[in-house]
Amino acid sequence: MKLSIKTGIIYSLSCLAVLLLVLYPSLDAPYGHILRILVIFGVAWLIYFYFTSLGQFNNTKVDSSNGNDTSQYAIFPKPHVDELFQEIQSMVFSIVQSLNDSYQPEVFLFEDQFDTLVRQKDSKSIFSDTILTNNLLINTILTSTGPQTIYQKDCGAEWDEIFGDKTWRGSECFLANPIRFNDKSIGLFIIYIDHFNALDNKSLIITSQLSSLLTKNLENLDSLDHQALGNYKKESILTFISNLNFQDAETDIYRQFSSLVNKFVPSDQIIISSATSFFTQGVIMWSKGDDPNYIEGKKFNLNESLLGLPMMVNGGINDDILLKKFPTFIPASGDGDSMINHSVVGLLLKIGEEKLISVILERKSKRKFSLKERDSIKSFFQILSTIMNWQQEYQQIYLNATQDGLTGLLNHKTFMDRFDEEIQRAKRFNHDLVMLMFDLDKFKRINDTLGHPYGDYVIQTVSQILKDNVRLIDAVARYGGEEFVIILVNTNIDMAMPVATRIVQNIAEYPFSMDEKDVKMTISCGMSEYPTHSENIREVIDYADQAMYSGKKLGGNSVTVFESNN
Ligand code: GH3
Ligand code: MG
Ligand code: MG
Repeated sequence: MKLSIKTGIIYSLSCLAVLLLVLYPSLDAPYGHILRILVIFGVAWLIYFYFTSLGQFNNTKVDSSNGNDTSQYAIFPKPHVDELFQEIQSMVFSIVQSLNDSYQPEVFLFEDQFDTLVRQKDSKSIFSDTILTNNLLINTILTSTGPQTIYQKDCGAEWDEIFGDKTWRGSECFLANPIRFNDKSIGLFIIYIDHFNALDNKSLIITSQLSSLLTKNLENLDSLDHQALGNYKKESILTFISNLNFQDAETDIYRQFSSLVNKFVPSDQIIISSATSFFTQGVIMWSKGDDPNYIEGKKFNLNESLLGLPMMVNGGINDDILLKKFPTFIPASGDGDSMINHSVVGLLLKIGEEKLISVILERKSKRKFSLKERDSIKSFFQILSTIMNWQQEYQQIYLNATQDGLTGLLNHKTFMDRFDEEIQRAKRFNHDLVMLMFDLDKFKRINDTLGHPYGDYVIQTVSQILKDNVRLIDAVARYGGEEFVIILVNTNIDMAMPVATRIVQNIAEYPFSMDEKDVKMTISCGMSEYPTHSENIREVIDYADQAMYSGKKLGGNSVTVFESNN
């Protein structure tokens, strides 16, 4: 902190003036006044100097010695949300790994210097703990706005600076996105990939979505920190969010959140509804309390119900608004002497770009919701809308990563993970599993004669038939091009036979038709059973496959059970 000459002179003059005032406290006008004015100016200048230099100090805390333009960089105020950020990171990493096991994701953030990025997850990794930003590659990524793919074969020393000087095959690459916070780069989201063959377009898109999810989460976390709630409430919310599972159903989150709110602001009834099409109707999505008028799934007209009022007035409601719009609400629910005093708080929440949610809290007692309570409720539910936004985005990205794009069935990788889980579960509970393997008969001719779009239509329709014929707990996946697999859980071959037969028959009878072209299609199915045929996941799959092919050889359109001698 350097003192300028001007500041030094003013500093000395004010010290001298203070000293004079101490020595001659009763100094008369005009010198006394001049001295006092000097002291006031001096002190004001000192205060100003103190705060500006504090600002400079904060700014210069960050080193720009590497010559980069660091005005594009920022440091995320991390400590108070650290635990939560770790949670979000784990969630993002698990999505990345569900794209491909071999992907190695890492998040790097600036911690207190702009010349160094620090790795955020405490685990063994191919990445070093820190990366210097004077590396040309890193610098380019930090100042870019979209995903960048960097190939080892195209780089020299810059690559080694990041990953160390090892023997490289030349097939390695990494995918990187800047993580932004308030329009500045605060770090990097990197995925290392051992072989660039493993990198596909879908992964590229999802990675980019994930890094914007990280960005949004950081911004939301920061705004959460600025909510007008006391520390205890904030802590409770942070704990709540850290314990939240984003794979939970929406209603589960509403239930957990309502309990949290009720801990701070008691109410007798909480009703959460959403507006359905054209903003004329609403449906109750979740309700807590014992009023039989409010049951989940109940539909209502927005302009005829208290529940639709926040949507009709496009904002929050309170007792006064309620009385004006629904004057009969309070007396109507009264019962002679034991008249119930209702007090209502209503909110309108926006989730994502499209979804509108109304939240109604009702208290049936003499104690009305106070202004403070209403503010608290508002802050709480603003946080809920942020949480639901995360959940929605997470689910969307998760589905993209785990589903097959054409059919919506599980993709190959997710199926293998799921199969593994189901085998573990079957082991634990001593259950049987049946694996069904399907392959369309002579499918290639469809593409050859009617075109690829027709082939896609057949694959989609067949997928729907498969899904329609099994229970929700069973897993249906697209195993390859026109090959499908189903795991029937807690089922044996005898119980599975009618299911498989029904599927094969439904497909053979289905009148495929598109662009006025009709076609008939058949499928072959092979079955194997865990643990009867094998306890090894690979073998269970192979055996179902062998059974399917032996049926196909005999003309297809059949269900064949694996036999150890076929
Ligand atoms: P088989 O009776 O022996 O099963 O003969 P097939 O013609 O069904 O088998 P084959 O494996 O030779 O052909 C499968 C074809 O499926 C080849 C490929 O072009 C096509 N295919 C794979 N994925 C898709 C897809 O997503 N859409 C379309 N339209 N065709 C696909
Ligand atoms: Mg086939
Ligand atoms: Mg095939």
